[in-house]
Parts: sequence; structure tokens; C-alpha cells
Amino acid sequence: MHKACKRFGQNFLVDHRIIDRIIATIAPKRDDNLLEIGPGQGAITLPLLDYVDQLNVIEIDRNLISILESLKHSNLIVHQGDVLKFDLNVVPIPIRVIGNLPYNISSHVLFYLLKNLNKIKDMTFMLQKEVVERIAANNGSKIYGRLSVMMQAFFDVQMIFIVPPESFNPAPRVESAVVHLKPLTQPKTKDIKILEKVVKLAFSQRRKTLKNCLKSILTQKQTNIDLSQRAEMLTIDNFITLTKDYEKQH
Ligand code: SAM
Repeated sequence: MHKACKRFGQNFLVDHRIIDRIIATIAPKRDDNLLEIGPGQGAITLPLLDYVDQLNVIEIDRNLISILESLKHSNLIVHQGDVLKFDLNVVPIPIRVIGNLPYNISSHVLFYLLKNLNKIKDMTFMLQKEVVERIAANNGSKIYGRLSVMMQAFFDVQMIFIVPPESFNPAPRVESAVVHLKPLTQPKTKDIKILEKVVKLAFSQRRKTLKNCLKSILTQKQTNIDLSQRAEMLTIDNFITLTKDYEKQH
């Protein structure tokens, strides 16, 4: 048995009912191009291998690689390394990304994948429940922020089910949740970078008005959005409008 490594955010799934529900959520088809992030000891990997012709996995912990390789399935391709540096071009597109993500880097992983949106068919992740709530939050809520806007501008977000700490070994201190993210058929903007710049600035000081936060890039004269509000009041479409107004000026 591998000793869980905190540094790599290792909380291994041990509850088979949860694993079955994750597989049912993914609903894998034989010719899907699946990529699993952080396969660990193979809790989700092994059952998935029965459903698909090819499964790519990327795992950082060298001590787990031999365990994964000993699964000895001809349809399993094991990559060792950091997912944040992983070249997605080695996986055929469109990619269905899945994983019980290491919680310490889950936002980084989401932003990394967002930058590769054109290669992605969908994503099914286990995350800290609080992170899923932030991704899915509506404007006006305290937890609505950069993660909510950036994810909802490009994905249809669905929280699927909640998972208690006891489903893992070691048990994390928080609840988890499975989320499904499907790229919108009509993306609201193609300009991820500019939207990110506007959103980052807008939420840089949550208690200040947009007029204050955005003053280096946009003034009230240049937009119909009321800049006396705080960023948390704006809908996703409002942010897209701000991005377009910004682009007109530059
Ligand atoms: N999928 C397994 C399960 O459900 O039991 C393990 C999940 S565990 C929460 C997260 C896994 O991600 C660990 O195996 C860990 O070693 C791996 N990991 C952590 N950081 C990583 C990174 N930067 N790139 C790839 N894998 C990483």
C-alpha cells in the first residue's frame, strides 16, 4: 500500500459506490479520448479501462507510476509528470478530461485547461465542494468571483453530487463534489486573455466599485455598464460587454 503524500494532495478514493457514480457521470464510450489527471493508485482508472479502447493518465508521483504500470492493460498509457506542464498534444482530440484532482492545485489545473479549451470535449472532476460552489456561483453572491466568471463564460457547469470525507483515505478535512463542465456550443467570447485581464482587475479589490478597480483600463464614458457597482453584481454577459468595450478602446 502506498503511503499518501500530502505535498501531492493525495486523498485516495476508497468508496466503490462513489467510483461507480463517477463512471456513470462520465458515461464513457469505447472511442472516447480520455485523459485522467492524477490517477493515483488507479481507483477510477482501473474500472474505466473496461469501457474505453485507450486511456491516457498523467501522474506526478514517481512512486505511483510502477503501481499504475503494473495494472498492465494494453489500453493504458501512463505519463509521468506535472499536469501543469503536460503537452496535451500527445492525447488525440477532442479530449474528455477527468480526475479526482489534487485540491492544492485544482484552480491552476482549471485555468491551464481553459487555455486549451479548443482541444476539450468535456471535463468531469472531483473537487473541494467549496471550489465547485465558487465555480457555479451566481452574481450577487459572496463567493461569486474570478473562478465563477471565467468558468461560466466558457462552460456549462453542473454540480453532480456531493462526496463526504469518509469516501477517501486519508479523509480530507472538507466535503468534496463532482462537477461536470461542458464547453458552451456558442462561446460568449474568443478572447480569453482580455476577459481574464478585465475580470482579474474587477475583482482585485472586492469592496471597491468597478470605477475604481478598472480605472487604468476603462472609464464610465466608454461603457454602458454602471461602474458604480461592485464586480460581484455583474452577470457573465455584463463582463463580456466590458471586455468588448475595452477592446474598442485598444
Ligand atoms: N485518482 C486517485 C483516486 O481517486 O484515488 C488519486 C486522487 S488524489 C486526490 C490526486 C492525485 O493527483 C495523486 O495521485 C497525486 O499524486 C496526483 N498529482 C498531484 N499533483 C499533480 C500534478 N501536478 N500533476 C499530476 N498529478 C498530480
